[in-house]
Amino acid sequence: MADMARKLLKQNEKVREERAEMTDIGAPHHELSPAALNRIAAQGESKLKPDRQIHDGQYKAALPGKLIRSEGDTETGIADADTAYDAAGQVFSLFADEYGRNSLDDDGMPLVATVHHRRNYNNAFWDGKQMAYGTGDGKLFRTFLELSVVGHEMAHGVIQYSGGLLYENQSGALNESIADVFGSLTLQRGLALEAHEADWLVGRGILGPDINGAALRSMKAPGTAYSDDLLGQDPQPWHMDHFVVTTDDNGGVHINSGIPNHAFYLFATYLGGKAWEIPGRIWYHALQSLNNPMASFSDWADQTIKSANELTGNGSSEAVMLRRAWKLVGIAI
Ligand SMILES: [Zn+2]
Repeated sequence: MADMARKLLKQNEKVREERAEMTDIGAPHHELSPAALNRIAAQGESKLKPDRQIHDGQYKAALPGKLIRSEGDTETGIADADTAYDAAGQVFSLFADEYGRNSLDDDGMPLVATVHHRRNYNNAFWDGKQMAYGTGDGKLFRTFLELSVVGHEMAHGVIQYSGGLLYENQSGALNESIADVFGSLTLQRGLALEAHEADWLVGRGILGPDINGAALRSMKAPGTAYSDDLLGQDPQPWHMDHFVVTTDDNGGVHINSGIPNHAFYLFATYLGGKAWEIPGRIWYHALQSLNNPMASFSDWADQTIKSANELTGNGSSEAVMLRRAWKLVGIAI
């Protein structure tokens, strides 16, 4: 791994100390039966409304910084602040309108975010209470205000208030993976893309202009998001055979998340249609039912299948396909 990548990992570790916690297989498309759709009918437009509070960190470390846009305020003209506001609204809407959740804590908590966090800061994070976004140094990263990244950070909040997943080893990689899933679903829903039309990239376009890479992570083909002298090689495996045992990165939480990420991708593309509907609901329901902060990949796979059985019927084709998806990444349950 290149030095810079190691440095990045170190930086990620440092950030986590500062806060509480940051082979494609040809898949046939499958049409859902009307009965299956009815069983998990969308909840429709909810009456739930966000309470966004966007701050300017003024390139300093203090949080939250200066409040510059509250809910209902007109645009600030500060691009990062307006993007953070809009993106937070889309993430809120995914959870509210699709899954019936009222904000990150399901109790209407304000969505607090800080843009311009520190100077040349190469990260974004959820600190247990709020989101913060660096601008990037313009070299490794050009921005962190991209919809799947915002969705990822806010999903860490949802995970925290859903019973949590300990941020190390397999449970930590699940925390990362579930954040990627809902990050990607926010983007797919925002663009109205079906599973087979989506690129399944997390953080597309956030890498610096000279970095050889498309995104931070690929759920479709983990390990292929970037390959660069400065950033190193995307270290993500997609199969348990290549599970990385390491003490870096809190036990590989950003590395091994490629495995459950790929299982979700396989399931969603097998199923076809809009991934935030049935697959997203199954993942969301599983997260609400898990009640095990130290869950392993198999525990989580098991929970998602239980959730599929509950939402789509015992032994449904969805549950069968989901089991197949887990098996394809080396998790047999
Ligand atoms: Zn994360």
